[in-house]
Amino acid sequence: MATLEIKNLHAEVAEEDGEQILRGVDLTVRSGEIHALMGPNGSGKSTMSKVIAGHPAYEVTEGEVLLQLEEGDFGDDFQIPEDKLTWNLLELEPNERAALGIFLAFQYPAEIEGVTMTNFLRTALNAKLEEREELFEDDEGDEAEEEEESGYDTSPMEGNVDEGEVGVAEFQQILKEKMELLDMDEKFAQRYLNAGFSGGEKKQNEVLQAAILEPSIAVLDEIDSGLDIDRLQDVSNGINALRDEQGTGILQITHYQRILDYVEPDHVHIMLDGKVVKSGDASLAEELEDKGYDWVRQEVYETA
Ligand code: ADP
Ligand code: MG
Ligand code: MG
Repeated sequence: MATLEIKNLHAEVAEEDGEQILRGVDLTVRSGEIHALMGPNGSGKSTMSKVIAGHPAYEVTEGEVLLQLEEGDFGDDFQIPEDKLTWNLLELEPNERAALGIFLAFQYPAEIEGVTMTNFLRTALNAKLEEREELFEDDEGDEAEEEEESGYDTSPMEGNVDEGEVGVAEFQQILKEKMELLDMDEKFAQRYLNAGFSGGEKKQNEVLQAAILEPSIAVLDEIDSGLDIDRLQDVSNGINALRDEQGTGILQITHYQRILDYVEPDHVHIMLDGKVVKSGDASLAEELEDKGYDWVRQEVYETA
């Protein structure tokens, strides 16, 4: 069970005199939970997701983003040393954050040609596993000391790091299982990247990426935008499967209440002017649907 803890997060555009966008965000998401983050256009939702992922366009000026892991988070075969359970994500590169189990869908680079979804996904999985091995490799020189302090034998760690990458045949099996889980057509994975995926198919790919990478926490930014009702249902079923079958925590950023009929949130948060100003249960989203955001703004600024 991993916990992502965002504390008093302030961020601005990484330019001289860059505009301040995040003004003290507090938010905690645990694996297995579904959170909806709502808010008017321009309130800072996408910026927050990019700051969590480590996007270089933003500079964090205050606050913390912590990831708290538990033994067993990477499977029974992967031992996480006690001194590597807590991570300050702001000190890590984007790929290191991903390797620790934070997922934000990446856009496919337009220049990739002739690569199938299958190869792309296998490469992404292997890159993640390799990066994770590096993060958990013993720091040079610390080994003897660590063994002495904790009685921890380093050799099982080396067992982890030497496992090597997921081969083609093994990956086919993983992919098959994940596509069954998501109720996706197997032919999908044989297609080429950028070969005319529809908007809805791109969103399904996003869920498939998350199924393959098995993150602890997935941030889905407007995955419901532009979907017709059938696709919305497919994508929603996929998101529910990520939570139910993999225990992934979901931070679902959405402008509309509609997807929340299918992916029922445990918690709903409202972001306004770069802060989470109100949190509640699923009924809060319904209230927003009825009344819009103005009442929240009034409530916040009247009591402030
Ligand atoms: P949301 O996702 O809630 O609609 P965003 O996080 O995309 O909001 O944007 C919040 C505000 O920050 C907007 O006013 C937007 O124009 C501004 N902003 C976001 N990213 C940048 C950037 N890289 N450079 C300049 N302004 C930005
Ligand atoms: Mg500045
Ligand atoms: Mg946005």
